Amino acid sequence: MSVSENIYRINSELPTGTRLVAVSKFQPVEAILEAYQAGQRIFGENRVQELCEKQPLCPNDIEWHFIGHLQTNKIKQIVPFVSLIHGVDSLKLLKEINKEAEKASRIIPCLLQMHIAQEESKFGFSFDECRDILSNGYLKDLRFIRICGLMGMATLTENTAQIRSEFKCLRISFEYFKKNFFMDESAFCELSMGMSDDYQIAIEEGSTMIRIGSAIFGARVYSCNGKLDL
Ligand SMILES: *Cc1c(COP(=O)(O)O)cnc(C)c1O
Repeated sequence: MSVSENIYRINSELPTGTRLVAVSKFQPVEAILEAYQAGQRIFGENRVQELCEKQPLCPNDIEWHFIGHLQTNKIKQIVPFVSLIHGVDSLKLLKEINKEAEKASRIIPCLLQMHIAQEESKFGFSFDECRDILSNGYLKDLRFIRICGLMGMATLTENTAQIRSEFKCLRISFEYFKKNFFMDESAFCELSMGMSDDYQIAIEEGSTMIRIGSAIFGARVYSCNGKLDL
């Protein structure tokens, strides 16, 4: 199936209220343009350098989401144009984003990444860490970020019951934080969960944003020197 056929098919499976983030990491600009022609406007990248190389070559009504692990020294490169940062997983990072956002006179929407998988390698807050940050009022001073919801990645497993329970756990956390800290903030409304292999389950468990790479673009090609072939 072509990129555009995949975009149409996945969109036809989305309930209203769930949006598709096309994860274009390691894909050439031509593939992004093909998805754009099919109507796709939200794209996700996980490396700052790659994102900053591609962004000027693409149409300027694209909404760029950063979905990777963000290093503090690279924040300022994406702050001028990024629409949403999915994977914020420390207070330090929130403060640094706030600082750069203030310099750029922007308010940057962010999602707090929660650790829901059983794998150790996945980044993210535990429920308690997240609750501490929200209840201690640290965020009140950070006027240049806006917390718009939560993001998480399920364990890479074929055990669908496990994946479902991890997504469920994320949704329950979302509802708890909404009720206790964001009741009056309509911006806190996003639950970013679901990738190519598990997005159907994520949708059933209440995802508002699925992040899909290989099911749109096919397998990613990594060149042997680790450089991106633009
Ligand atoms: C790569 C990536 C995706 C997309 O993965 P696929 O399995 O190709 O759909 C989604 N989210 C994050 C955080 C990623 O790094």
